[in-house]
Amino acid sequence: MTVFQQIIDGEIAAEIVYEDDRCLAFHDINAQAPVHVLVIPRKPIPSLAALEDGDESLVGHLLVVARQVAETLGLHNGFRTVINSGPDGGQSVDHLHVHVLGGRLLAWPPG
Ligand code: 5GP
Repeated sequence: MTVFQQIIDGEIAAEIVYEDDRCLAFHDINAQAPVHVLVIPRKPIPSLAALEDGDESLVGHLLVVARQVAETLGLHNGFRTVINSGPDGGQSVDHLHVHVLGGRLLAWPPG
């Protein structure tokens, strides 16, 4: 059981900014920018590497919600979306999540 599943199940509190029948968006507990939100599916998909045929609509929905969250939280000057996958990708929670970061100029390339 991942910490994100516990947030979905209401066992761990999170600062939720958006939710619907398919996903949740909440503030990252260790924000790396003035705005740092995670958008996660309710479906327990471990990572982008574990996507299956049929997940297209859900993944598209996560990105539309990421855009809505960015707009709601005032990221009118731009924002970054990141999906870390697997050990080399820096993924630390094995439940698919889209990072939405903004509120400052973000460096590129990442480390
Ligand atoms: P990853 O490293 O897997 O791409 O991102 C996982 C993110 O989840 C990290 O940015 C980390 O700060 C965040 N995170 C881990 N545990 C919790 C938690 O209990 N609550 C919240 N809100 N975020 C968490």
